[in-house]
Amino acid sequence: MLLNKNDKITQKYDVVIIGGGLGGLTAANKLAKNGRKILLLESHDKPGGFATWFYRKKHIFDVSLHGFPVGMVKTCRKYWSKEIADKIIQLKRMRFINPLYQMETDYTVEDFTSKLVNYFKVSQEQVDKFFELVMNMNYYDNKEMTNGELLESFFPGRKDVHRFLIEPIVYANGSTLEDPAITYGIVFSNFMSKGVYTFQGGTDLIIKMMQEELLKNDVDIRLKSKVDKIVVENNICQGVTVGGNFIASKSVLSNGNLIGTIFNLVGEDKFKPEFIEKVKKVRLNTSSCQVYMGIKEGEKIEDIGDLIFYSEAKEFKTDELLSMNTTSRTFSLYYPRLRPHLANAGYTIVASTNARYENWVNLSREEYKARKQELIEATLVSLEKIIPGIRKKIDYTEAATPLTIKRYTHHEKGSSFGTKHEGLDISMKLQNEISGLFHTGSVGIIMSGWLGAANYGVIQSYEVESYLDKTN
Ligand SMILES: Cc1cc2nc3c(=O)[nH]c(=O)nc-3n(C[C@H](O)[C@H](O)[C@H](O)COP(=O)(O)OP(=O)(O)OC[C@H]3O[C@@H](n4cnc5c(N)ncnc54)[C@H](O)[C@@H]3O)c2cc1C
Repeated sequence: MLLNKNDKITQKYDVVIIGGGLGGLTAANKLAKNGRKILLLESHDKPGGFATWFYRKKHIFDVSLHGFPVGMVKTCRKYWSKEIADKIIQLKRMRFINPLYQMETDYTVEDFTSKLVNYFKVSQEQVDKFFELVMNMNYYDNKEMTNGELLESFFPGRKDVHRFLIEPIVYANGSTLEDPAITYGIVFSNFMSKGVYTFQGGTDLIIKMMQEELLKNDVDIRLKSKVDKIVVENNICQGVTVGGNFIASKSVLSNGNLIGTIFNLVGEDKFKPEFIEKVKKVRLNTSSCQVYMGIKEGEKIEDIGDLIFYSEAKEFKTDELLSMNTTSRTFSLYYPRLRPHLANAGYTIVASTNARYENWVNLSREEYKARKQELIEATLVSLEKIIPGIRKKIDYTEAATPLTIKRYTHHEKGSSFGTKHEGLDISMKLQNEISGLFHTGSVGIIMSGWLGAANYGVIQSYEVESYLDKTN
């Protein structure tokens, strides 16, 4: 049932889920289908978390629907519905535009192999060996080797090849050349298995369908309900408080930021000092900026591809990517075909850059506004090089920064992809510290993105089930 934010809750739930991101939503559905009584509390006025959208003028802007791996079809079919899975379609045209190469790809092993051999002139044998290794990587593999080392060992001195192989993944999960190679390998091979996919109908439709499915499966959902505390007594989770009111539950699954869950919602004093020492070493993943651009009603733009990796930088470097003056950005193009069910669906373009929270948080109000305007201007200048004359067709622009991300999702430092890899272990071991407390959602680089977050929701739902079975 969709509860009103002022409804008084007196019943005790099997599980209270804090946050309706893809991890929380998928866990809620899985647990509810198994007959558990679930309450999903979301602080925003709609579920989805990063999987969200907003309206400006006549435009609908998708925030994080740039592309995900084919695995999402199976996950949606198994844990959501056939109707949702059937709306997932392939994006066929990804493009790279940078000083080293300009090319188009469908982002599959076959196409990448052909480009590595025929354009980059790498030996077939070396390419095959590389794919054999990355396509078989798993979480338990050696975590010492970095992405940079992995690429250097296969393609020594070939900065162009390194860039070709890692650039999309840097945007897809914040993984850098310095991160462990598994964080790249697992996500890269997920994409490479069959290319890049999207949801036909847009983010608004998938989240609407998910919400309907949850209500059908008897999940209670309360929006505009920010959890202030997770209540723990004698190391056992008792429930949560919202606006000072206590809601009892046998277990709590937090889909909020891992660090925020531990320090703000539970409190450091409820954990063993050794555990807190480890938590303090967990690094957040980087954040990002977006520029949203709406095309005037009646104007058209030709199909120039779905996703463009654009950069004017001669060398691919983490510092350049994160700098406020970076020239490296992605452009996602949304054509009316994304929303065939709407008679008047228009065109929108969303540009993304990686960013550091620290660069934005200390600006004065005026500086902040000015920097956002500069970001919009730099984005338009780049876009005009790809689509000459586009500026005249745009009637709406808006910039979002790491501060925007923090405000809407409560992610510490506006982190776009949760934590770096060390966060996964902490997230999985939360229940060893406090009985009945679990976490799901972007962590460890691997468990992020639409697919990673949804799958991690499933993984953690099994943990919650096994706890409920033991304690009942
Ligand atoms: C700009 C951007 C673009 C992206 N593009 C892509 C893409 O193209 N493809 C892809 O696969 N991934 C993309 N991602 C990443 C992907 O969207 C996320 O990894 C994924 O959606 C995160 O899901 P999650 O389960 O971690 O929950 P989140 O999305 O982080 O949601 C957490 C939810 O918890 C709620 N919450 C937090 N604290 C509380 C509280 N105390 N009380 C109540 N509610 C609370 C928040 O409001 C939020 O709704 C992108 C991310 C960003 C930022």
